[in-house]
Amino acid sequence: MSATIIDGKAYAAGLRGRIAGAVADLGRQGIRPGLAVVLVGEDPASQIYVRSKARLTVEVGMASFEHVLPATASEAELLALVARLNADPTVDGILVQLPLPKQIDAQKVIEAIDPAKDVDGFHPVNAGRLMTGVPGFVSCTPLGCLLLIQSVRRDLAGLDAVVIGRSNIVGKPMAQLLLAQSCTVTVAHSRTRDLPEVCRRADILVAAVGRPEMVRGGWIKPGAVVIDVGINRVPDPAAGEGRTRIVGDVAYGEAAAVASAITPVPGGVGPMTIACLLRNTLEAACRRRGVPMPT
Ligand code: NDP
Repeated sequence: MSATIIDGKAYAAGLRGRIAGAVADLGRQGIRPGLAVVLVGEDPASQIYVRSKARLTVEVGMASFEHVLPATASEAELLALVARLNADPTVDGILVQLPLPKQIDAQKVIEAIDPAKDVDGFHPVNAGRLMTGVPGFVSCTPLGCLLLIQSVRRDLAGLDAVVIGRSNIVGKPMAQLLLAQSCTVTVAHSRTRDLPEVCRRADILVAAVGRPEMVRGGWIKPGAVVIDVGINRVPDPAAGEGRTRIVGDVAYGEAAAVASAITPVPGGVGPMTIACLLRNTLEAACRRRGVPMPT
C-alpha cells in the first residue's frame, strides 16, 4: 500500500484564499479584522513564527499589529499591554507568542486575554467550551489536524483514534475534537504502557510528542490515517558537517508504506496552524461585530 500524502501546504493556501475572499467581503461592509501578536524577547524560532504570522495576516487583507517587548519585560508590563489590546476595538484577535521568559507566568497572561479575542484558544474558558460542545475558539494546531483528517475521511464516527501527547495546546484539544466527531478516543502519553500496541488499534493516529521518528511503521494499523504534529530538528550529516533537518514524530517512510494517508513533515500540519489562526481571527471579528461568518 502506498499512502496518500496529505498536502497541508496546499490545503492551508486554499484556506487562506477563502479567508482572503471573506475578508474582502467584510471590507465592503467597512470591517477590517485585526490580529495583534505579542513577542517578548528574542527567541529566534519565535521571531520567525511572528514574522510569518504578520506576513500572512496582511496577505489575507487583515490588519496586523506587532508588539515586541524586551526579554527583560515584567509580567505587569505584559499584562498592561494585554489589557490595552483587550480594550482596543480595532483588535479582534490577540496572540501572545509562547514560550515567555521565566519571570512571566504564562498561564496568568493566557487568562488575562479576553476569551472573545483568544484566537489561540488557550484560555480556560475556550478550553471549557470545546469540552462542553459550546462554540468558542479551538487551538489552531489541532483544528488544522482535524481539517486535514476530514480532507481524506469525511465521516469519523465510530473510528478508533489515538492521540499521542496530552499537552493543553495540542494533545488534549485534539482528543476533544475527535470525541466531538464521535471517534472512540485514547490519549497516550509518557506513562502509557505498550504504546506500540495502543497505536496499532488506531484508525486515526495523531502524534504530538516532540520525539524524532518515534512512531515506527510496525505501530500503524494498515489503512490508518496518520497525522504527524512533531517538529524536531536532527543532525543531517548527508547535507554536511553541522547541518540539520526537520523530521516529525513518525518514521515517515515506514509509516507511509502501511497507512492510507499521512502528513509529511515539513509541509503537513505546520502550515495549517497559521491558516487556522487567521480563520479564528476572522470568526472573532464576525462574532464581535455581530455579522455572520462568511462561508
Ligand atoms: P509537549 O512537550 O507539551 O507535550 C508532549 C507530550 O508527549 C506530553 O504529553 C508527553 O507526555 C508526551 N510524550 C513525551 N514522551 C513520550 C513518549 N516517549 N511516549 C509517549 N508520549 C510521550 O509538546 P507539544 O504538545 O507542545 O508539542 C508536541 C510536538 O508538536 C512538538 O514536536 C512540537 O514542536 C510540535 N508542535 C507543532 C506545531 C505545528 O504547528 N505543527 C504546533 C505545536 C507543537 P507527558 O504528558 O506524560 O509528559
